[in-house]
Amino acid sequence: MKERAGSKLGDYRRKRRPEATNEPFGGELPVPSSEGTLSGAYVVHLHDATRRHYDLRLEVGGVLASFAVPRGPSLDPDEKALAVKTEDHPIEYLDFEDVIPAKQYGAGPMIAWDRGTVEYLEGPAEEEIASGKIHVALRGMKLRGRYALVKLAKSAKGDEWLLFKKADEHASKERKIVEELPRSVLSGLTVEELVSADAIGAAHVARALSLGATKLTARAVKELVTPSRSPLIAATASASAPSAAAAARARDGWVYDAELEGVRVLATRDGDLVTLHRFDAGGAGQPIEAFYPDVVRALRALPFSRIVLDGELVAFDASGHPSVKLLAQRVEKIAKGDAHRATTNTPVVLVAKDLMALGDADVRPLPLVTRRELLSAVLPELGFLRASPPLEGALAPILAFCAEHDVAAVVAKKKSSTYTLDPKKQPWTLLSTGAPPRPRVTVDHRASDARAVLRRVDVTNRAKLFWPDEGYTKGDLCDYYASVAEVILPYLADRPVILVRYPDGIAGKSFYQWNVPPGMPPWVRTLSVNDENDEPKRGFLLDDASTLLYIANLACIPLHILACRVPNLEQADFFTVDFDVKQSELKHAITLAMRLHQHLDAIRLPSFAKTSGQSGLHVLVPLGKGQSFATARALADLLGKLLVEEFPDIATMERIVARRGPRVYVDTGQTGQTRAIVAPYSVRAVAGATVSTPLAWDEVDYDLEPRRFTMKTVPARVAKVGDPMRGMLATKPDVSAAVARLSDLVAEGTTKRGKAKKTTR
Ligand code: MN
Repeated sequence: MKERAGSKLGDYRRKRRPEATNEPFGGELPVPSSEGTLSGAYVVHLHDATRRHYDLRLEVGGVLASFAVPRGPSLDPDEKALAVKTEDHPIEYLDFEDVIPAKQYGAGPMIAWDRGTVEYLEGPAEEEIASGKIHVALRGMKLRGRYALVKLAKSAKGDEWLLFKKADEHASKERKIVEELPRSVLSGLTVEELVSADAIGAAHVARALSLGATKLTARAVKELVTPSRSPLIAATASASAPSAAAAARARDGWVYDAELEGVRVLATRDGDLVTLHRFDAGGAGQPIEAFYPDVVRALRALPFSRIVLDGELVAFDASGHPSVKLLAQRVEKIAKGDAHRATTNTPVVLVAKDLMALGDADVRPLPLVTRRELLSAVLPELGFLRASPPLEGALAPILAFCAEHDVAAVVAKKKSSTYTLDPKKQPWTLLSTGAPPRPRVTVDHRASDARAVLRRVDVTNRAKLFWPDEGYTKGDLCDYYASVAEVILPYLADRPVILVRYPDGIAGKSFYQWNVPPGMPPWVRTLSVNDENDEPKRGFLLDDASTLLYIANLACIPLHILACRVPNLEQADFFTVDFDVKQSELKHAITLAMRLHQHLDAIRLPSFAKTSGQSGLHVLVPLGKGQSFATARALADLLGKLLVEEFPDIATMERIVARRGPRVYVDTGQTGQTRAIVAPYSVRAVAGATVSTPLAWDEVDYDLEPRRFTMKTVPARVAKVGDPMRGMLATKPDVSAAVARLSDLVAEGTTKRGKAKKTTR
């Protein structure tokens, strides 16, 4: 397994720096079937790197075989495009769309230009690639029909192939598809626009506000993101709203929406948190986003931090007709755990019919025509999200057209109507087209228990050895974090967490990862945070046990946290004094920590101790609602200096290692806006799988043996003694009073030393 992963993605990983790029680094590989790959997913990226090119990536044996195609795919069978085979890419790259940072491999913007399924027509892909001839049928959003890739026998440089369309009903000599359809199927942006996506999003929001949208209130955001009431439901023409039905027959002032065979949802994105609430006849606001990772990914790709849509989730059959039966089958497969296969074979589109919020703009007070116009402007023309084309004009031909296409009902909507929930103003009316209603198929998004199943993280490669000397595995690591979730989560919640991944265990390579991979589950929350170089990054927010297990499964051994919480990332909510004993002895660190505790007690600041998980000790001092990082750092420095003055033989704050001598390094430099410390209950990537363990102050004595606290022993300790650090973040110390007392303490110390000097003299 390890060998295969190494050989398949080795080139890919060698070319990239995971701490610097935002591309996925690739997880573990699925086991390819013994008969080889007969079908899979594909993506075509448009990549504006040093030289602009398209990248065709075909799923083969759990990775993406990749070809750089400078001219891009063509529909003309006579056009043979050069395709240079490049390194295999991880399967997560199917979802990738972003600007690769400057100076990194492949720097520049890359959009997902097309997505779909590939079928290998003349045998398994592995054999085709080896033979130098690949015959495929593509079923994508843009590319359709048969294509071939043929390897050049005598190629001057590298692995050169020719890509061309085979003659079939999708071939065309006239159409230039790369010019005709230049936009992303995820964000709807062009590759040029992607670099200024934020500005483009902001311009749309500003336009909505200029058209009369109101500013969203905090209350409205909450109501939209966690809806308790159903969205607008159309009244039935015959029964409750006959007058509206009559009005609907008038030519002007109304638009009509076809009722597709889908599932009505309210789709909301707030930050990276996406929810799809089901609101059809059968369900009362059931969240079903876990069944639609493709739609979730597309919502996350839009250039808005917030968007709320009213629409229908629709699966289309091979002929392009909506099929609720296919949708039901797909949901069933996903519930059984085969999400990749199900989403590949049966893509789902969110057909949006109304827009309720965009960024900070509440667009519900705008007339329907304006909302629809905004909707068409912000959604991709072709992709996982689409604006429903409104039908306009005389009613009779519209009803006839719909009936002909097996659409049983349309909803008539007043153009001037606002989006209200006020039933008295009911602006929508359901009209029958005369086509026989389709047999009802229930899409079973099984309630509570199956949801639970989808939030469960399946740990992959449990048996992989992570601590070779002890025989501890990746499964042991995941089990540990699952068992301490309750005590560790309060320290992680709402806080930037920096991941350090060890895909091959503590003896293998490790790397820092600030950025979250693109294809993460919908329930994972993220936040924007700047790294130490002030580069914007997107980090995980570890708020629940599922997310904790999800990142443990990414082979993250230690969890590093910043001393701040959203939304106040400018404010430190604790500071740390680290007693580093690498060149000294633990007993001295204990003496210093006990003395620091006395000082903090004297100035009435609460303090909490933990082992570092390696050889030292950490003392954490909570700051209530928060202080500026400068204040927090100054406090830590002052306390450190006090200790060094009192214990010059065993303590030092000397930055230059060689000058420290056999003294404890009192490190106060771990408090800063981008400085991270290892979280309480975090495992360390060292022999013994030791854990940074919170201690009661009476445990900080000369018998302390930090190495006894390991991944194997800490869960039992927690069960027995609980968490000695519990409540740390809830304390509300009076920091200004403490600062005043500390100044007194320092002055007192100076006076005493002054007197002592005089006596000696
Ligand atoms: Mn490329």
